[in-house]
Amino acid sequence: MPARWWQPEFAANPLLTLRVQMLVVGAGPAGGELARQLAAAGVEVLLVDQLADLGQAAFSSAAMPFASLERFGLPAQVVASRWRGWQLLGPAQERRRWLASAPLGVVLDFGALRQWLADQCSRFGGSVQLGRRAFHCQSQDGVWRTLLRDRQGAVQEVISDWVVDASGQGRALIGPLVPLPRAAELDRDLVQGVGVEWLLQVPLGCWQRWSDQLSFCLGSDWVAQGYGWIFPMAPGQLKVGVCRLRPDRHLLPLGRVLEQLQARLFSPDERQASVVLDRHGGLIVSSIRRRDCHGQGRLLAIGDAVSTANLLGGEGIRHALSSSRVLAPLLLEAIQCGQPFRLRRYEQVLARQLGWRWSLSGRLARRTWLGLTGPEADQRLSRLLVGLEPRRAEDLAALLFDYRFERYGLRSLPYLFGMR
Ligand SMILES: Cc1cc2nc3c(=O)[nH]c(=O)nc-3n(C[C@H](O)[C@H](O)[C@H](O)COP(=O)(O)OP(=O)(O)OC[C@H]3O[C@@H](n4cnc5c(N)ncnc54)[C@H](O)[C@@H]3O)c2cc1C
Repeated sequence: MPARWWQPEFAANPLLTLRVQMLVVGAGPAGGELARQLAAAGVEVLLVDQLADLGQAAFSSAAMPFASLERFGLPAQVVASRWRGWQLLGPAQERRRWLASAPLGVVLDFGALRQWLADQCSRFGGSVQLGRRAFHCQSQDGVWRTLLRDRQGAVQEVISDWVVDASGQGRALIGPLVPLPRAAELDRDLVQGVGVEWLLQVPLGCWQRWSDQLSFCLGSDWVAQGYGWIFPMAPGQLKVGVCRLRPDRHLLPLGRVLEQLQARLFSPDERQASVVLDRHGGLIVSSIRRRDCHGQGRLLAIGDAVSTANLLGGEGIRHALSSSRVLAPLLLEAIQCGQPFRLRRYEQVLARQLGWRWSLSGRLARRTWLGLTGPEADQRLSRLLVGLEPRRAEDLAALLFDYRFERYGLRSLPYLFGMR
């Protein structure tokens, strides 16, 4: 971060200073979960976010398997809907559907999730400050000094023993991905996705057609180098979005792609009766080999800031939560038992949790989505989907959420995904 805090604008205004044990920057799933874990264990935590309202800018479509909801103990109030299957539209006019007899997962209300995690942090005695953007952090005399700016421009200094960067793909404090020896190598290792999503209020009959399942639009004539989705939310509400992997030069702007997608999915009457409740979007930037800097002394990073987002299914909430669950006990060991913090151990346990399939799924994401540019790629995708037809909805969930590619024969995968 640019070190600007000694400049005259700050010198003229004495800083309001706050002293805490632990500062967590970013109240997304990673930061919120870490703050609640630490606050529950009695650590003096301050959780800050640049958003003034955690219910706003709910950029994530937030589909999650049922098992993760249980694993992280998330309450009903953060669940917008349940799903028990998949509908795949495309390439072109193809349509396939797999439904299980019981729910397989949920679509979260992402804003409600963030709010609930922050409320939990407060409930356990932690502090939460919103509308504050961290813009500088440095270690001095054995403590960390972090500067936050509020919406009126006032600057506050937080002095803490520890700082955790949970600011997502922007990596506000820990900094960009470690430079690799050659630019081309970094380029191959990075997967970047950009998504745009609308929250729509639709007639109930229209909602019912899309409820109970996660629907995806696949194929270059739907979304080149990406995919579209329709997820059910509370009755009468749908999330409709498109995501594309970069580089996306010379392609139709994503906003236009989303409009075209809706024109194909909804009748003119349904479109006329729909109301756009919110428009949002965001970036996912992940390193396939996870070469991120996980920490520097007592400045640590979690969630998307250490590439826990997976681009194959555009999914990162449960992995962000997992990273906090890995870091929390190691931090507690260091804080409460006076043990040195074991950065290497944090990196290793997190890598083990994500598993060996992680980098494979990242490479597949690059190949599959970036290669989806025309009829040849559509035909390959079509063959892959035909192969999935005899499978159950549960098998597709295992493929997309557990990355269990080996069930389909590892040797055949490169062909299926066009790697050979
Ligand atoms: C369009 C889209 C659709 C997605 N769909 C899904 C999905 O269906 N399922 C799924 O699991 N994942 C999905 N994801 C990915 C998922 O949302 C992320 O992986 C997850 O939110 C990462 O959590 P995080 O806490 O690490 O970061 P974030 O959720 O990005 O949280 C970071 C927080 O830090 C705050 N912040 C940033 N900079 C600063 C600063 N300087 N000072 C203070 N605060 C700061 C931000 O306001 C934000 O609240 C999607 C992502 C996108 C973009």
